[in-house]
Amino acid sequence: MDGETVRIGGHLEDYRSLGGVAFALIRDGSGTSQVTLKKGASDPALFDLFASLPRESVVSVEGTVARSTKANRGVELLPTGVEVLSRSETPLPLGVVDKVPAELDTRFNHRVIDLRKPEVRGVFVLRSALLAGLRRALGDLGFLEVETPKILRQGAEGGATLFALDYFDTRAFLAQSPQLYKQMLMSAGFERVFEIAPAFRAEPSDTVRHLTEFTSLDAEMAYIDGAETVREVLETVVLAALRHATDHLAVRYPELAERLKPPPHPFPRVTFADCEAKLGRPGSGRDLGTEEEKRIGEWMREERGAPYYFITDYPTSVKAQTFYAQRSDSDPSLTGYFDLELDGTEIASGGPREHRLDHLDVNLRSAGLDPGAFASYREAFRFGMPPHGGFGFGVDRLVQKIAGLPNIREARLFPRDRYRLEP
Ligand code: ATP
Ligand code: MG
Repeated sequence: MDGETVRIGGHLEDYRSLGGVAFALIRDGSGTSQVTLKKGASDPALFDLFASLPRESVVSVEGTVARSTKANRGVELLPTGVEVLSRSETPLPLGVVDKVPAELDTRFNHRVIDLRKPEVRGVFVLRSALLAGLRRALGDLGFLEVETPKILRQGAEGGATLFALDYFDTRAFLAQSPQLYKQMLMSAGFERVFEIAPAFRAEPSDTVRHLTEFTSLDAEMAYIDGAETVREVLETVVLAALRHATDHLAVRYPELAERLKPPPHPFPRVTFADCEAKLGRPGSGRDLGTEEEKRIGEWMREERGAPYYFITDYPTSVKAQTFYAQRSDSDPSLTGYFDLELDGTEIASGGPREHRLDHLDVNLRSAGLDPGAFASYREAFRFGMPPHGGFGFGVDRLVQKIAGLPNIREARLFPRDRYRLEP
């Protein structure tokens, strides 16, 4: 574009005057461009204008493109006119180009400014590419994208993490998961469905992998041959999504594409019982704690070179509240449930569901629930329900892990947790 007249709009990131020459750095969606003012050549009023403008003000600069060996993009803009579109207040609550890292809380309090940092924006470029990749991967496998209600009369998971809300003259709850609805769609004959939507959980614990509002990818499929069918689909989806996202990012964001290298596969499958043995607590039948999960992650890394792996055959004792999880007919102390783990963190849970109403009612009762309270869910099983299974997958955890973020909150634009409802 050497010699062409252009106009760019963006934030004034920095302005430095070195006497005879001055540089204004303008940041827009594509990156930072250098505007060069030269004594004698540029309008003297422009020097004064830039010098008086606070950082992060929004300007529109018109000028001539010139090849440059020194400017970061190999070109600079020689300005002929500058319009101030929005003047920033001072001081900035948070620096955009500061070398000193800000506290997480400060960053989230002023998230709009935090999001201007290229490396923070990169997380959301990566997130968008992963979401597009997941959608495409599921679509290619014949999954129909659906949307189920988020305002419910009752939840699917434990009552402890339900958010209640006033709903006219009654009480309703925010959906913790689309579990019951995606199963109902199996009875509706949809065969393969997926949903990418918010899920709400009143997680009182303050951890680096829990949010009160997160994005859940849920998939459900009919006519499975046991748990392995579900695992194969999940593994295929993850690998294909990483590949699609890489292709998508390769040209404009090579450093992000670098993070999406295909992991070793097939992902190892290790049974829950083997994990328990490894941890020196064989047959305890308790769920894995955070530290134990991490140790299994290290074990899988060291011995199998695997960041992604499945923990399979969860015992019924751990899934006692998960009434829709099918118990094995040959050994009712086991379910076909599995978790997909990434470096010691659970990113998905799934398995074969119970499709036989009599078995389902037994599970409901042993979870201390009244089948009568699940009338519309049960109806789906009363009039013909194919065998089916599926999984729930935490999109934010995947983004957190792939982007190498210490805290899941950084994987969301405006995170919600126990203490944060703003911005
Ligand atoms: P955990 O044991 O880690 O709390 P979970 O077993 O309760 O997770 P599931 O009900 O299996 O979670 O939900 C499916 C997936 O949704 C999880 O594997 C995880 O990736 C994600 N997920 C669950 N709860 C949260 C949360 N509070 N914040 C972010 N992601 C979550
Ligand atoms: Mg789980």
